[in-house]
Amino acid sequence: MLLGVIADDFTGASDIANTLAKGGMVTIQFVGVPTRPAPQDCEAGVVALKTRSIAADEAVAQSLAALEWLKAQGCEQFLFKYCSTFDSTPEGNIGPVAEALLEALGGDVAVVCPAFPTTGRTLYQGHLFVNGRLLSESGMETHPLNPMTDPDLVRWLGRQTSLGVGLVPYPAVRAGAGAIRSALAAEAAEGRRLAVADAIVDDDLFALGEALDGAKLITGGSGIALGLPRNFAQRGLLGGTATRVPAVAGPGCVLSGSCSTATRGQVARYAESHPALTVLPEDLVEGRTTVAGALDFVESHLAEQPIVTSTAEPEAVAAVQERFGRARVAEAVESFFGELASQLVARGVSRIAVGGGETSGAVITALHLDSLRIGGEIDPGVPALVSDGDPVLGLALKSGNFGAPDFFDKALRAMETP
Ligand code: ADP
Repeated sequence: MLLGVIADDFTGASDIANTLAKGGMVTIQFVGVPTRPAPQDCEAGVVALKTRSIAADEAVAQSLAALEWLKAQGCEQFLFKYCSTFDSTPEGNIGPVAEALLEALGGDVAVVCPAFPTTGRTLYQGHLFVNGRLLSESGMETHPLNPMTDPDLVRWLGRQTSLGVGLVPYPAVRAGAGAIRSALAAEAAEGRRLAVADAIVDDDLFALGEALDGAKLITGGSGIALGLPRNFAQRGLLGGTATRVPAVAGPGCVLSGSCSTATRGQVARYAESHPALTVLPEDLVEGRTTVAGALDFVESHLAEQPIVTSTAEPEAVAAVQERFGRARVAEAVESFFGELASQLVARGVSRIAVGGGETSGAVITALHLDSLRIGGEIDPGVPALVSDGDPVLGLALKSGNFGAPDFFDKALRAMETP
């Protein structure tokens, strides 16, 4: 294994695995820290954790465990992958995890770059934009778990870490790899060991990738991986075998617990032509809605690829959180979707498209899958996945703001015809 990625959630893991696979690396996504060695053909290993919204010390411990396993597989370069909308709170977990990994690797400086212009995430003067809007005006400011109210990542990250936070400004990025390396060295010399890097077009990410050849630790969204496969290819280290996945037929359904803007549109669109069951978090918390009831609904509409969703408007999310507490609501909804997925698979469902990063994490954990091969791309940043093992399952894991309006239909189709 050449490149070891530690991802803070499951959809993010498949997003970056998709970037690396498209770049020509044989890529496998592992669910949690594996207990066995990786397959020999694996060139990029992506360890998918679910550390985005847990306590910072626990996120650090799990990330360090993943680092140890990846080191044992022979990796020399490591990448900490978080969301392209920098999902975090003033307590973490991006800062604490980046800091711990940098210390463990003895690195001088690590780049911080969640940008991915193709998917609408750009960074200028350290400020993050989502589809042309400042992060804090993009809808992310009302996110149920990580409300992003400050678009200045230098300032926001500075609240999360004791390391100094610097900036690789756009003129340096635009001037290419040499200027980027100089800017990073200058930040390190000033004691700013985490450096946010601007990027406005995808070419900037290729320049950053070139500059980061040989860097021990890189941090960012999936876009920062764009330029990395080329570094390994140029040294003749890639086998050149494309990742192939089998077709998965059989019953399919959609589960969505994401309340993000794009998902709300996708759920509404999908529900126009498929049976839909909307569950309310208050009914889950108080036991009026159960997994058994949802299971009956799915089974009675199986041929029509139904959807079960808790997706709701921001006002409803705020109201239910106010009533029961954010953590209690999230736990009720996530454990519902996890349990439902596992019962559905036991009853023969073999294709599941999931909306929501945390929701995907809950589903994958409940399904006890070890590793996932990366298939074709459904929409930018979201591949179809096929589980290694028995039964063979087709999956798509989509975090909040990813995917076109017809994402869910396309996702289920992509698994049938990879
Ligand atoms: P996204 O990728 O859009 O951020 P996630 O699944 O990561 O989606 O996060 C959504 C969070 O909101 C989850 O913890 C989920 O359980 C919770 N949630 C889902 N539906 C509701 C709802 N109707 N009200 C409040 N919280 C909800």
